[in-house]
Amino acid sequence: MRIRFWGTRGSLAKPGPSTVRYGGNTSCVEVRADDGTLIVLDCGTGAHDLGRSLVASGERPIRGHLLLTHTHWDHIQGFPFFAPLFIAGNEWDVYAAQGLGQRLEDTLAGQMEYEYFPVTLGQLDATIRYHELHEGAFNLGAVQVTARYLNHPGLAMGYRLEAGGVAVVYATDHEPHSRHQPELTGSDQVLPVHHEDQRHVEFLAGADLVIHDAQYTLEEYPSKLTWGHSPAEVAVGFALAAGVKRLALFHHDPLRDDAALDRLVEVCRRGAVAGGLDVFAAAEGQTIELVEQETVTSHAARRPEAAITKGVGAATTTILLVDDDPDILRLLTMTLRPEGYRLLSATDGNAALEIARAERPDLLLLDWNMPGRNGLEVCRALRAESDPDLHNVPVVLLTAQVGEEDTAAGFAAGVTDYVTKPFKPAYIRSRVQTWLRRKRAGTEST
Ligand SMILES: [Zn+2]
Ligand SMILES: [Zn+2]
Repeated sequence: MRIRFWGTRGSLAKPGPSTVRYGGNTSCVEVRADDGTLIVLDCGTGAHDLGRSLVASGERPIRGHLLLTHTHWDHIQGFPFFAPLFIAGNEWDVYAAQGLGQRLEDTLAGQMEYEYFPVTLGQLDATIRYHELHEGAFNLGAVQVTARYLNHPGLAMGYRLEAGGVAVVYATDHEPHSRHQPELTGSDQVLPVHHEDQRHVEFLAGADLVIHDAQYTLEEYPSKLTWGHSPAEVAVGFALAAGVKRLALFHHDPLRDDAALDRLVEVCRRGAVAGGLDVFAAAEGQTIELVEQETVTSHAARRPEAAITKGVGAATTTILLVDDDPDILRLLTMTLRPEGYRLLSATDGNAALEIARAERPDLLLLDWNMPGRNGLEVCRALRAESDPDLHNVPVVLLTAQVGEEDTAAGFAAGVTDYVTKPFKPAYIRSRVQTWLRRKRAGTEST
């Protein structure tokens, strides 16, 4: 399997003398498996040169799979400049997490509307098929793809690609779930307390190469909370805990020049050395070969349809908002109402429980400290119900308690997710979508 970086920058393309070594183009990574399967991870401005190189190779037709983490600009701005899409006979399958409301095709068409761009999506000559994913595994040629939601103010998907016994994970535009991050302690890594951070570590587990969001330094991070990106040092912590072999720092901040990236890599290497982890900063033009073994694939090939969502009707989805702070209730209502959900609200724990029993919501957003029963007590009461709709309902705890013990206490009480205040509305929107999709996928598969 050959991996090549065509764009490593985050947020904004940043060409110029200060970024010439690590590159100025935004996210785009080419993966070519030994069986010839071509997978392109994200379509930032780096896709321009990738497209030219594919066309120049003489390969016809050019068939490939484009896996988008999400549709923020720095991940799709190369799409209208990706030459293979303009050539009739080429075939491309485009995948992304399904959001609510707008279809992937319409979102991509949006940046190509007349006011923004002279060519419309419909004028691209290649055959392009659009697929909207939920979490799950599927096969593209010899490559098994596992998709998993990331933590970002916009529904984003990470991808784990496995073929011939090697694994590469692409996890960019991801912020740690817990505000409490353990110090780097070399080989002596413990699993994070937050269940979603633990699952993130499982997603990376044992990979030969992890390409991970590392936009910030640990020092910068406190002023960048909830922007949806990781400090590089925390990416190292995740990779160590996951027993990863090589870590490519990725999604470089536009303000990080080459010299600053060199210094960041040095800091990360000091933290990683005892764990036997090789850390480097992904550089535009860099190629990495992972040696595939000949393996007999015993598992039946799973078609991508296995991870493709059927529509989820927002109108039939009920969310119960519980907080004694009227400002928070108003903020949650303003954030979620435009999505078309049916919203119920309560300002104390006892009322919340009563409403939950009567209305069986699909999801609860639940404050911790409230009059009457507190959030943890409400959650324990729900988990003690015999009715599976209440017993299993996803509960997202919203709390200002940031300590590690608090997080542990939340999960011990049975919460599904633990979100620390203050939060950005966009975060709540994407966490709500994540849990509703997971709930729907769970019920669909049973
Ligand atoms: Zn990004
Ligand atoms: Zn983003």
